[in-house]
Amino acid sequence: MDPREFRGGEDYARARDERDPLAALRDRFLVPRHGDGERVYFCGNSLGLQPRRVRDVIDEELEDWAKLAVDAHFDGRRPWYSYHEQFAPSAARLVGARPSEVVLMNSLTVNLHLMMVSFYRPTAKRRKILIDGPTFPSDIYAVKSQIAMHGYDPGEDLIIVQPRDGEHTVRDGDLLGAIAEHGEHIELVLLSGVNFFTGQLLNIEGAARVARDHGCAMGLDLAHAAGNVPLQLHDWGVDFAAWCSYKYLNGGPGAVAGCFVHERHGRAHDLPRCAGWWGNDPDTRFEMHLRPDFVPQLGAAGWQLSNPPIFGLAPLVASFELFDEAGMRALRKKSEQLTGYLLFLLDEINSEAGDASRVEVITPRESARRGCQLSLLVHDRPSELHAALDGAGVTCDFRPPNVIRVAPVPLYNRFHDVWRFAQVLREL
Ligand SMILES: *Cc1c(COP(=O)(O)O)cnc(C)c1O
Repeated sequence: MDPREFRGGEDYARARDERDPLAALRDRFLVPRHGDGERVYFCGNSLGLQPRRVRDVIDEELEDWAKLAVDAHFDGRRPWYSYHEQFAPSAARLVGARPSEVVLMNSLTVNLHLMMVSFYRPTAKRRKILIDGPTFPSDIYAVKSQIAMHGYDPGEDLIIVQPRDGEHTVRDGDLLGAIAEHGEHIELVLLSGVNFFTGQLLNIEGAARVARDHGCAMGLDLAHAAGNVPLQLHDWGVDFAAWCSYKYLNGGPGAVAGCFVHERHGRAHDLPRCAGWWGNDPDTRFEMHLRPDFVPQLGAAGWQLSNPPIFGLAPLVASFELFDEAGMRALRKKSEQLTGYLLFLLDEINSEAGDASRVEVITPRESARRGCQLSLLVHDRPSELHAALDGAGVTCDFRPPNVIRVAPVPLYNRFHDVWRFAQVLREL
């Protein structure tokens, strides 16, 4: 993408919105208010906005519960017994998988643990986990506890590949090099697709290849990647992935998370796993006490434990309809433009100020190495700046000590939002 294609003025932003083939999707969401207008909402990387249709979908489930009660498991308009199955085709499209390779269940950290039960099986010789930094706390806690549960020492057996001194993001060469260097001792490589703090998109395909060459299992935490960047989990051959549904997938607070298990493991009945009745073959599930032996169903669905929380899944009916309508390809194309435009305006602000590091973008500048989020390092009173942005009607978030994360989301953000953000920032 060529930054010279952008222009500075408000008219330009409005003209871009008029030409945007996805512009109408904005009206399918509820945008928080600011005075007489709407807020600039750049926090979809933390909690996506509510699709307008969510209320109807939830009302429909309430109605089925009221009118049919237990019979809604089979006679409801979206029968609860097979409720999770309706999401598989859309979720598979989002992450580049076959429908049998994905399932929505539990929450993200729970799914990471369930996956590690199956794919982190350390031995004395091969027992390390390699992750990328900076790492989200829940992921660190999860991997350390897994190492300790197997009787090993997280201080010794956890490798965190960090950015080099004076740099903000991990070099792909360093990441692949570390996997190769420690490969024979690594049992699991667990990477974030898109880093929560820096917004960096890792070279997942390359890392998966090196991990496979060295006999390591490969898993992904796609919290910031699902619904943000195109993914090809099946073709990349990763063993598993997990993601939450309340960030870019707009499923609402605590929405049911997603999980991918590669097809080659879907039939592996000998893999150790935590078993529960919802992972059992649905044809014999209700034979209950007559069938004490667990027979996992094929694919990712065989890792389910409990019957799913219908109200935690229902909003995703509305959200996935919008993703299917727009398509990840078109969304990514708009996203590259929106965030490219944001980068262009930030450069402009820095050059007007005569100080290239006033707001320093620590996210990689090349669109192939990031999603929609830009992370801004602010040296001068960052939390005051964040509070002032909030007061001026801009929702973005602050990560101590000095980073403001800004995520223009192509489903509902406009070029004009980006322009307004830059205008507020310039005035502050
Ligand atoms: C958001 C996020 C989580 C959150 O975990 P939950 O189990 O959904 O609470 C975990 N890891 C990463 C990298 C995240 O970005």
